[in-house]
Amino acid sequence: MKLVKTVSELQQQIQDSGKGASVGFVPTMGALHEGHLSLVRQAVAENTLAVISIFVNPTQFNDPKDLERYPRTLEADLKLLETTGCQLVFAPDAQEVYPKPDTRKFNFGKLEKVMEGAFRPGHFNGVAQVVSRLFDMLKPDKAYFGLKDFQQLAIVKNMVKQLNLPVEIVPCAIVREDSGLAMSSRNELLSAEERKNAAVISKTLFRAKELKTQMSVKELVEWVKDEINNNPFLDVEYVEIVDDEELQAAKSWDEPTTKIACVAVFCGKIRLIDNIVL
Ligand code: AMP
Repeated sequence: MKLVKTVSELQQQIQDSGKGASVGFVPTMGALHEGHLSLVRQAVAENTLAVISIFVNPTQFNDPKDLERYPRTLEADLKLLETTGCQLVFAPDAQEVYPKPDTRKFNFGKLEKVMEGAFRPGHFNGVAQVVSRLFDMLKPDKAYFGLKDFQQLAIVKNMVKQLNLPVEIVPCAIVREDSGLAMSSRNELLSAEERKNAAVISKTLFRAKELKTQMSVKELVEWVKDEINNNPFLDVEYVEIVDDEELQAAKSWDEPTTKIACVAVFCGKIRLIDNIVL
C-alpha cells in the first residue's frame, strides 16, 4: 500500500498500474471505521487498483466548529487500511485540492432543498466540488458511496449525470455497531454514556419499519420524533419519510415508490444521521 499526497504522485501511481487497470475509488474524510473499510474491501474485490482518499473537505462544512473538531487520525487510518488489500491512499492537503478557491455553484433542484440540504446550507455544493475534483484527478471506473449518507448518494449520482462522467456509482450497505448505531467518525466524539443512548436512534428506526402497517405516514413521522426526543440525551433536528428517487416527503403508503425514513439527531453537541428503507 502506497501513501501519496500530491496529484502528480497520484497520477503517476495510477499510470504505473498499467493501461486497462480498472480503478475503484472510495472518497472519505478519514477517522476510518468498519463502514469505510467495507467500501474499501468492495473496491479491492471489484478492481485491479483500489484507491482511497482521506481529505477533510473544508468546503462542505457549514459550521466552522464542526470542521475544527472533526477527528483526524491518519496514522491509525493507514494501519486499518493495511488490512484491506487497498493499493493506494491519497491524503492531500487543502492547497493540493484547491490551489485556488472553487467558486462553482451546482444546481441539484429539489434534491438539495430537503433534509441535509435544508439544514446544512452549502453542504452539498461542497460535496459536489470535492467529489468532482477527485474524480477528475483519478478518473475512476467505479466509485463507492455508503447508503448511510443517503441524500449524498442521490446528489453524487445526479452530479455524475449532469457532468456526463464515465464513472459507475456503487451504493454500499450501512454498517452498524453491535448496538445498532450506524457507524460514523463522529461517534468517536460521543461520551460513553452518549454513545449508549445514541443507539435509541437506530432502534426507533427498526421499530418504525414494523409499525408502518399500523400508522399513516404522518403518524409514523411523529411517533419516531417523540420516541427519540423522549431520550434525554437526544434532540431531533428532522424526521422525514421520503421516496428514494427524488427524496420528497411521502404523503401516503399507497404511492408506488420505495420509502426511506431519514433522521438527523443531536446527541449533545454531535449531530448524527441515519436512515432505513421502510
Ligand atoms: P465520510 O468519511 O463520513 O465522508 O464517509 C466516506 C464514505 O463512507 C461515504 O460514502 C459514507 O457514506 C461512507 N460511510 C460512512 N459511514 C458508513 C457506514 N456506517 N456504513 C456504510 N458506509 C459508510
